[in-house]
Amino acid sequence: MPELPEVETIRLGLKKAIVGKTIAGVEIRVPKLFHGDKTDIIDKKIVDVNRRAKQIIIDVEGDNDLLIHLKMTGQLIFRPKQELGSINQELWEGQTAGGHPSKDWTAVLPNSTTHIIFDFSDGSKLFFNDMRRFGWIKVFNSGELASKLSEELGIEPFDKEFTNAELAKIIKSKPRWNIKKVLTDQSLISGIGNIYVDESLYWAEILPTRLAGEISDDEIAKLREAIIKSLEIGLKYGGSSENTYYKIDGTKGQAQEHFQVYAQEGKPCKGCEGVVKKIRLNGRGTHFCPECQK
Ligand SMILES: [Zn+2]
Repeated sequence: MPELPEVETIRLGLKKAIVGKTIAGVEIRVPKLFHGDKTDIIDKKIVDVNRRAKQIIIDVEGDNDLLIHLKMTGQLIFRPKQELGSINQELWEGQTAGGHPSKDWTAVLPNSTTHIIFDFSDGSKLFFNDMRRFGWIKVFNSGELASKLSEELGIEPFDKEFTNAELAKIIKSKPRWNIKKVLTDQSLISGIGNIYVDESLYWAEILPTRLAGEISDDEIAKLREAIIKSLEIGLKYGGSSENTYYKIDGTKGQAQEHFQVYAQEGKPCKGCEGVVKKIRLNGRGTHFCPECQK
């Protein structure tokens, strides 16, 4: 599952590619993956591309927007208008894409994993591919979408309101949970999952198994900085492809090369003489340094 840095990387590439284009048609090949009435967005211009947690919001002019969740294996691939007879090499030029990597980047589009195709009035196209079909696209009334997302999802770590006091309130609301469980719960804080929570707890020097109620205010302040730091590292290197995610230009994100503990089990800790350990916690692989983290 992509986390905030991966989805944000895709959003930025998509925004460059499609803002200002007009949706001329939507071809729905697998109806269960498209919810809502496509005629609500046809002949409308794309105003912006936003993100909330791990979901992409395509802001369409008028009363409706598109909400996209890529889930495990979703891909969004933009292709400019192609001239007849162009070869694959040329197809690749100007293509932007993001999501689960597969040969489909360069293969002929559409293919058997292509479920929804947006046609723009200038002849360019946006393909939604999903091998496992867990992803989806929904047409939403703009106002309803905003209230639905704020009901379901906790605060974004890059929000101005994500202060030490706000994080303390969240952590203290679940005193009996381990700290990792609190941080990965999307209804409390949104956008961070298994990778970036392990990395954040490393930078904050807090063991993932600690009870939330036993984390001090000083540790909470350090943890807030650590969350921002680990996400900024993820964004800087274009997200992680460790978790099978590619950047929007089809190249691999490099964030995994900068992880301190995630997927580093058995390797020497980068901060001490210790060795990174992996355990199962809340049903998830959990990585930490038993020396650096207390
Ligand atoms: Zn260490």
